[in-house]
Amino acid sequence: MVVGAGVFGAAAALELRRRGYEVTLVDRGGPPHPEASSTDVSKVVRMDYGADVFYHELAEAALAGWDEWNRAEPRPLYHETGFLVLASEPMRAGSFEAESFRTLRDRGYEPDRLDAGALGSRFPAWNADRYPDGYVSRRGGWAESGAVVSRLVSRGEEEGVRPVEGTFAALREEGSRIAGVRLADGRELRADRVVVAAGAWTPVLLPWLRPLLRSVAQPVVHLAPEAPERLRPPGFLPFAADISGSGWYGFPALPDGQLKIGHHGMGKEAHPDERGGVGGAHLERLRDFLSDALPALVDAPVAATRTCMYCDAVDGDLLIGRDPLRDGLVVAGGGSGHGFKFAPLLGPLVADALEGRENRWSNRLGWRASGPVRTEAARHTIPNNEPPRKEEAG
Ligand SMILES: Cc1cc2nc3c(=O)[nH]c(=O)nc-3n(C[C@H](O)[C@H](O)[C@H](O)COP(=O)(O)OP(=O)(O)OC[C@H]3O[C@@H](n4cnc5c(N)ncnc54)[C@H](O)[C@@H]3O)c2cc1C
Repeated sequence: MVVGAGVFGAAAALELRRRGYEVTLVDRGGPPHPEASSTDVSKVVRMDYGADVFYHELAEAALAGWDEWNRAEPRPLYHETGFLVLASEPMRAGSFEAESFRTLRDRGYEPDRLDAGALGSRFPAWNADRYPDGYVSRRGGWAESGAVVSRLVSRGEEEGVRPVEGTFAALREEGSRIAGVRLADGRELRADRVVVAAGAWTPVLLPWLRPLLRSVAQPVVHLAPEAPERLRPPGFLPFAADISGSGWYGFPALPDGQLKIGHHGMGKEAHPDERGGVGGAHLERLRDFLSDALPALVDAPVAATRTCMYCDAVDGDLLIGRDPLRDGLVVAGGGSGHGFKFAPLLGPLVADALEGRENRWSNRLGWRASGPVRTEAARHTIPNNEPPRKEEAG
């Protein structure tokens, strides 16, 4: 039984089915459910993780999976456009940008270094004076996340995964074992193993995980620029603009003309069902950023906004492991704002955990009830309502 058909759950259900299990996939609606974090038009796929070689390697392995998925699909859902990483100061050892660049080079990649001149000529929408340094990682881009989840779910059903629409309310226990789930409408569903992959709802549904997992609301804005054709690859790429110093990242304009800008900051802790909307203060901050960095977009009207939820692990690491105190329960989540790119690996990682198999990644991503406070390398850690002070930028 897999609870939650976001990218973690849908990938797990398909892989478990392929390993010969009878699989039931439960979700409250959809899938993809409109409120799920995976349900979106785009997610960044990057190997750029500062000096954190573990995630660089995990992303590298995931990229091989994206290539395979693209080959198997009628049309690619992962777009290898390249990923633009901009620094607001010359890249210095220790900065997210410099360490990501060094890690790429150490591992045999050749990112294109950009000074202001190169930025201005290759990517004219940017205020090149604002970013004197940076690079393009050619092995990266973005994925159509909602479409990927739909594809995983439909493949699963084609291969025998049984979908059930319902709201998980509690685990069903028989003695010391977890033996299924109870739904909010009173239905009881039996299973020998249960995977809870409920995203930001996980610490709500499994409260003993609250020392490790928090539900955090993050703002997303979709703009409708006047000339979207100028804001597409190769002249405009998915980007991280001094991301650890400012939080800003974004995507090229889509065929519908809309362009998404997100903020990889600390967000606001919130219950996923009471997440609220994107406030005026955030839109003001976005305008400040645009006027400074992307003048071509400063007057672009807002087409849509969305509050999306992170399932934040206190140590910034995904959580994929068996609960040692509840035989038969596996938890898969803790995406911490960076989990989607690993989609091609998530199924095998969850299935390995369920079967108690060790793998290259399980040591760091496996079960833990709490952890050291740490964030993923690109995360902007200054609370959202304080603009970064110059000396802290980059
Ligand atoms: C704004 C934002 C931007 C992001 N950008 C990126 C990015 O650029 N690159 C990247 O790699 N990652 C990114 N992420 C992270 C990524 O989106 C997540 O890590 C990933 O999508 C989490 O997937 P999930 O399956 O754990 O959760 P979800 O996709 O949220 O799925 C959870 C599912 O559980 C279901 N559910 C919840 N409660 C119940 C219940 N009681 N009963 C039944 N079903 C239930 C929900 O309906 C939902 O379908 C971003 C996240 C956000 C919020």
